[in-house]
Amino acid sequence: MGVLYLIKPGELTLKGKNRKFFEDRLQATIHRKLEGIPYKITNRSGRMYLEVEEPFSTEVDRCLRTTPGISGFAPTIGCEKEPTQLVQEALALGRRMVSQRRGKRFKVEARREDKTFPLTSYEIACTLGAALQKEFPELIVDLYHPDWVLYVEIRDRGYLYVDNERGLRGLPTGTSGRGLLLLSGGIDSPVAGFLMGVRGMVIEAVYFHSPPYTGEQALKKVESLSECLAQVTGYLTLHVVPFAEVQVAIRDRGVLDESTLMNRAAMMKIASKIARQRQAHCLITGESLGQVASQTIESIGFTNRFSDIPVLRPLIGMDKEWIMEKAREIGTYEISILPYEDCCSLFSPPHPLTRPNPSILQRHWEDLMLNDILERAIERVDRRTFRYRKV
Ligand code: ATP
Ligand code: MG
Repeated sequence: MGVLYLIKPGELTLKGKNRKFFEDRLQATIHRKLEGIPYKITNRSGRMYLEVEEPFSTEVDRCLRTTPGISGFAPTIGCEKEPTQLVQEALALGRRMVSQRRGKRFKVEARREDKTFPLTSYEIACTLGAALQKEFPELIVDLYHPDWVLYVEIRDRGYLYVDNERGLRGLPTGTSGRGLLLLSGGIDSPVAGFLMGVRGMVIEAVYFHSPPYTGEQALKKVESLSECLAQVTGYLTLHVVPFAEVQVAIRDRGVLDESTLMNRAAMMKIASKIARQRQAHCLITGESLGQVASQTIESIGFTNRFSDIPVLRPLIGMDKEWIMEKAREIGTYEISILPYEDCCSLFSPPHPLTRPNPSILQRHWEDLMLNDILERAIERVDRRTFRYRKV
């Protein structure tokens, strides 16, 4: 038996003439994720409809749940736009709710997109509600705390559904350019990447790896996080930069208390070069204002100079609790808290600067003479790509 999904695209409705572009991008991501699965997708009057055979519905559920640009979706029943037909289908769904013991309290929510339909939304809700109560006298209408809701939409046809799943919302992948995420193994940066991915950005990631000071386990962790993020956008390329030589040079040539900021500056500089090579429009970091010494507004002011493209910091105003909750929700938290050290903790000074004087620091940066070392690191970048995993 076939399943028909009704898909509600997110903010697409706001996009006027660009609408088609947004819909095409959304379909392209769905195509990539469902490659090899026979299904049919169409666009009609503000909704998308996806038809697939029952055995593939778990796969489709996962795809729709993980794809940006979808505000909600539901397996639905399509029928003639005709009051008696609607009543019949409503009773069939009601019977299912009753036999599955989904609760006695219900309400009907109707939406009439086709204004030529003879009943108003209110009248549709009343008609179907009354029919359900007549057939199943134990049911009670409860507009405020229903156990289940019967949704009805009158469009090119009538559509009825009960299991209204929430999507990720946001914008379809590929509608907001490309961003290069500075991905450490920590809690914050994966969340930052996720948020920008949901805003429609294609994400690539860069990880600064410092063997032998950081082990393979730390790299594995970043790879797992990359794979997690690839579930949202469909794929993700990770650039691994060998960073030990840079860190050692900063330690040996510079002022100890400045080393954290100098490392950050070097990361920004390398990342913005890689971003240019990859035609990325911006960098993305997991910085949150005041969280650590390198994230005071003064420190950010200094490190920001080292990128010649915009640096997006989606977590800048979020507190740690919020970030941790989000990390749990998107499934990166458990990976991030694995104990393997990242490169920064090993070289961090006991008293890092919190209010750097930018002109002094800039001079000290020049004195470090890192250009050749940074170039070498960029030449030795190692790349790998992660893809969406089917169920
Ligand atoms: P996170 O939890 O993302 O590691 P954090 O709270 O540990 O953040 P910092 O270590 O100061 O903060 O890092 C700030 C940001 O710099 C990170 O969010 C990340 O974007 C970037 N960053 C730090 N270390 C690395 C690294 N080894 N590779 C790539 N990016 C890094
Ligand atoms: Mg960190």
